[in-house]
Amino acid sequence: MIDMQEPIPYLDLNAQHRSLRRELIRAIDAVFASSAFAGGTFVERFEKAFADYCGCRHAIGVGSGTDALWLALQAVGVGPGDEVITVPNSFFATAEAITVCGARPVFVDVDEATLTLDPKKLEAAITPRTKAVVPVHLFGQIADMNPINRIADRHGLSVIEDAAQGHGASYHGRRAGGLGRAGCFSFYPGKNLGAAGEAGAVTTNDDDLAARVRMLRDHGQARKHDHQLVGWNGRMDGVQAAVLEVKLRHLDTWTQRRRERAYAYQELISRVPGLRAPTEAHSARHVYHIYGVRCDGRDDLLRHLSKHNVGCAIHYPRPIHLQPAYHDLGYGEGCFPVSEQAANQLLSLPLYPELGMEKLQRVATLIADWHDGQAMARQRETSPNRLATDAALGG
Ligand SMILES: *Cc1c(COP(=O)(O)O)cnc(C)c1O
Repeated sequence: MIDMQEPIPYLDLNAQHRSLRRELIRAIDAVFASSAFAGGTFVERFEKAFADYCGCRHAIGVGSGTDALWLALQAVGVGPGDEVITVPNSFFATAEAITVCGARPVFVDVDEATLTLDPKKLEAAITPRTKAVVPVHLFGQIADMNPINRIADRHGLSVIEDAAQGHGASYHGRRAGGLGRAGCFSFYPGKNLGAAGEAGAVTTNDDDLAARVRMLRDHGQARKHDHQLVGWNGRMDGVQAAVLEVKLRHLDTWTQRRRERAYAYQELISRVPGLRAPTEAHSARHVYHIYGVRCDGRDDLLRHLSKHNVGCAIHYPRPIHLQPAYHDLGYGEGCFPVSEQAANQLLSLPLYPELGMEKLQRVATLIADWHDGQAMARQRETSPNRLATDAALGG
């Protein structure tokens, strides 16, 4: 018997690190032994391994996923006066990187089923100022890249994948990071491949672009003291690279376990009316960074699960176009109905490779109980008995 009150955290990084502790400490020790702390051999080794993993010619290790987006946009020439198209239902950094380049984010709504950039809405948002498109592989599912690339090619736009949630996800058999002109990854600790701190990477098959990103992340230096460009300090740490190299070897196993758990949820949750499990598109192999279900009464369900010690999260409670920081862009409520509805309905359930199946079942049972409770409350409200009582009381 499991203890029914035992908390189920939303995320449990300790569970992952317990089994890797020795390996990780040995890897970190090697960095200290060589003092290759900023950039250097450990970063180079991880870059090679990650490029191979993504099926790309180049991976460039940087300071964070936000750095990766900013550096990739800079490297394709995005600057003041340009527009860059992206989606409003992402982490804020996707749009923020565009703004920090001096360009203007232009949003298009997402597909109702997959919640990724809707290619049917893309062309209408393109203007003579548009320079690039940033589709987001939301929750671990790759956006519909073929039509997006076709439209972008027709208009001479660069496509930069926001693959911060898509490590190892594939689309028609090709992995995230190699599906546009550049791919941007985050290794924030909670991501499917997470560092022991902040880190990110830019991937590309374009040799010139790779060279520009390499320079930009290191103060625009081609060689020491030869500053060809104005860049920034966006280098990856040696310790992070060493940790990531160890973890990368386990990523496919972890992804498989995430997928098994997603299917288990799907099986249990599809029996609950009114609850919508994530859609896995035919062409895209989902890596379930986030398992987001949709339902009406989401806030009530969140309260119910919290009351029973189940950790949940909301990705994302307010779409980017409605954030105060972007008030000046002039968007308002109703501009992107699919994203706005998703923001009101989505609830992220605990899902990680180490999540015990009995715990997952407990989450699903709690959700079914919540639904039954709601249905019963509705029935009570409309039953003839209740109406008669209300009438007798003069209600
Ligand atoms: C995490 C994330 C980022 C930012 O990555 P950081 O490493 O935290 O800077 C950008 N876009 C998306 C979609 C993300 O999930």
